[in-house]
Amino acid sequence: MSMIKCISPVNGEVYAERPAMPLDLAKQVVSRARQAQKAWARRPLDERVNLVLAGVARLNEMVDEVVPELAWQMGRPVRYGGEFKGFNERSNYVATIAADALKPLVIEESDRFERRIAREPHGVVFVVAPWNYPYMTAINTVAPALMAGNTVIIKHASQTILVGERMVRAFVEAGVPSDVFQNIFLDHETSAALIAAKSFDFVNFTGSVEGGRSIERAAAGTFTGLGLELGGKDPGYVMEDADLDAAVDTLMDGATYNSGQCCCGIERIYVHEKLYDAFVEKSVAWVSNYKLGNPLDPETTLGPMANKRFAATVREQIADAVAKGAKALIDPKLFPQDDGGAYLAPQILVNVDHSMAFMREETFGPAVGIMKVKSDSQAIELMNDSQYGLTASLWTRDAERAARIGADIETGTVFMNRADYLDPALCWTGVKETGRGGSLSVIGFQNLTRPKSYHLKKVTA
Ligand code: NAP
Repeated sequence: MSMIKCISPVNGEVYAERPAMPLDLAKQVVSRARQAQKAWARRPLDERVNLVLAGVARLNEMVDEVVPELAWQMGRPVRYGGEFKGFNERSNYVATIAADALKPLVIEESDRFERRIAREPHGVVFVVAPWNYPYMTAINTVAPALMAGNTVIIKHASQTILVGERMVRAFVEAGVPSDVFQNIFLDHETSAALIAAKSFDFVNFTGSVEGGRSIERAAAGTFTGLGLELGGKDPGYVMEDADLDAAVDTLMDGATYNSGQCCCGIERIYVHEKLYDAFVEKSVAWVSNYKLGNPLDPETTLGPMANKRFAATVREQIADAVAKGAKALIDPKLFPQDDGGAYLAPQILVNVDHSMAFMREETFGPAVGIMKVKSDSQAIELMNDSQYGLTASLWTRDAERAARIGADIETGTVFMNRADYLDPALCWTGVKETGRGGSLSVIGFQNLTRPKSYHLKKVTA
């Protein structure tokens, strides 16, 4: 039996392992989910919503275990207290809009006709989740999917192998029936085989572009609905009228928080030439304040990357950019804890350009490139010169100018004077190779349900 292992970035040792489930047993999990689904969907919406919220509350009670467990699994410093803020905010918000989002669209209700479009749950939803924000990315789909009357099977990343298990434990302890929300440990082949066998009515995959491609291939010809929330290379653009300190603070945080392992982390910044020198100087000072170290130490503000192979990618990209003429501004002596492995010093590169992989490929680490620009049109061209399209962050005091630029930007979200935040009232989505997801908001509910039309002619005579 093959084992799925989490190698901890804290010490490079196996922190947790679980046996991968063989296909025949996995099919039984799916079959239980299918059998439970209709009864779950028949329960009143309020009951489903309240049970999901009870699961969320139960997970909050586990905070003392969740926070160090996260640090061991993927390196998040304990001082940040896990992901509870976003996890709770998103769950609570979707609970408040569930009734409205799921209510039928009534076209006619007269003596002669009843015509309406109802929202029906898909059935069994498969959630494949990444390790970088393992609770928050999962809850984006798990909460609305369950509220809408689907049953859910979650497969979590190997790096955060305990997260799906813990979420399910919390929800089931809070009263969600055990066949309604199940955790499963799977290797890629078995996941693909299940999808190809049309086991699921909807699959939500959050992860890399390559992973998304594999899921799409596995689903080919099955007509299974897919949500694909994939990688990003999100830009920031600081205009000459920006609030400089706020821009530095938010963009540097967006570039480096969680060791830069955010799907919507800031990976490249374009600064108007009038503010460029000041922006770079303040950014270097901001980043130099980090304390890199063991995430279990409450003093640590920057943990290791989740895995030394992720840090190796960042190191390679930086080395390649420097070999091509980029300049690294953060003095490595400030970060003696950088061990050449998972513990990686943050970095800011200037003299960068789009011939470098560092400015084109997803870096997914605490490193960012800054380029000088002369005009909005140059900034727009550079921001759009990417295979990805998740978010873009514009910094200006002129909302009309930001709206004009925003209209020309090829991303799922445009921010003005903020970055790196998922607003649960807005649709989380991307364009280009960032995939075709659409989670949270009313649209998230629509994607986790299907329309069903009722066209009822009344007998009047
Ligand atoms: P990943 O390697 O693609 O893995 C994501 C999940 O998919 C894991 O559970 C992984 O399982 C599974 N998986 C990967 N390839 C698979 C395959 N061929 N068949 C079946 N399952 C497969 O991505 P990651 O490294 O965990 O996450 C980082 C990536 O996610 C980054 O690119 C980031 O930008 C992206 N992301 C995007 C969003 C968004 O909202 N757009 C949010 C968060 C993260 P194993 O761990 O067992 O391989």
